[in-house]
Amino acid sequence: MNFFNLFAGPHNMLEQFLKDLAELVNLDCGTHNTEGVTKAAHIMQRHFEALGWRAELVDLGPEVGKGLFATNKPEAEKFDLLMNAHLDTVFADGTAAARPFAVNGNIATGPGCSDCKAGVVSILYALKAADPKDLDRLAIAVCMDPDEETGSKNSAAWMRSIASRAKQGLVFEAARPNGALVRSRKGAYQLRVHVKGIAAHSGNNPKAGRSAILEAARMINEIAELSDFDGTGVTVNTGMISGGSAINVIAPECTFGVDIRAWTDKDMDEALAKIRDRAAHPSIDGVTISIDLFGITPAMPRSEAGSELVAKINKAAQLAGLSIDWVDAGGASDANHMAPSGFAVADGLGPIGNHAHSEKECLCIDSIEPRINMVVKLLSLL
Ligand SMILES: [Zn+2]
Repeated sequence: MNFFNLFAGPHNMLEQFLKDLAELVNLDCGTHNTEGVTKAAHIMQRHFEALGWRAELVDLGPEVGKGLFATNKPEAEKFDLLMNAHLDTVFADGTAAARPFAVNGNIATGPGCSDCKAGVVSILYALKAADPKDLDRLAIAVCMDPDEETGSKNSAAWMRSIASRAKQGLVFEAARPNGALVRSRKGAYQLRVHVKGIAAHSGNNPKAGRSAILEAARMINEIAELSDFDGTGVTVNTGMISGGSAINVIAPECTFGVDIRAWTDKDMDEALAKIRDRAAHPSIDGVTISIDLFGITPAMPRSEAGSELVAKINKAAQLAGLSIDWVDAGGASDANHMAPSGFAVADGLGPIGNHAHSEKECLCIDSIEPRINMVVKLLSLL
């Protein structure tokens, strides 16, 4: 199949889309490559300026590349819509040269091709293809962040502040391999638990010791019971552990990392409170436990406003000749960081992708045009 025929016409939009996508994919954009990510922001700034939009780079600190903010209504105080995709990838420097953007039949490959550079380019092309009347009517903000893959630590507050001025949001992570979009996402709390015991010789003087490892093992077992896979959906996972100083020493220290996930912030808060309570009551006298909550990703729950947006997207899909499904996802995205501003947000608006964060990452080319058409129709319904 010749994919260039799909957008056959005077503008040959798919061909141009893939060219623009290739330019971004062939640029190393691991989150820590601030130069590469900023270059990607510059490229997108150029594209939005060519559309006649106000586009500016946003300084989010020296640890990360620049973000991009673009709007068709620079004077607007409130936005009808916020569109988001992230500029960074998970891949190390050199990946772009080692396996550059490539097309094989219906499949495109290359680092970040679907996560999330196809989403970045889709926003641009949806706006290029939009009815000028819709663009005239709607105040649209586009924000592209440089650090999603490391948890958006530098950009979350920025995105939330724009979201708080917007009525609704669309996040252009890739659609699921089966084409589904995402209507809700679990939030995540990440904590480090430090257990402090008392060292002693395990042969000569074991009773004098207080084992931090033993206490940690008991606590890990107990907090695992907080998981409720089939009920509330709360999960508590201890994903990392280290401790002890030598095999013949009663362990004076143990540290483990815990990931709490839930559909609502309230459920996460409750699980965290129980873990804190357990920490305040060690099972071994003389052991102390402290907790360092270092990562907070709010939940993106289902809501009434969200359901209205989902219904509009379903209608837009229908108008674009697509039938789509929705999923509730356990993984987080930038949509989570926008959700607390109380507006409706939907995710997975990008073309269909698969195998993100791996060498097998790919993009389904024949999903590009229909998904963009869907977004164009959606703009007419907002
Ligand atoms: Zn990713």
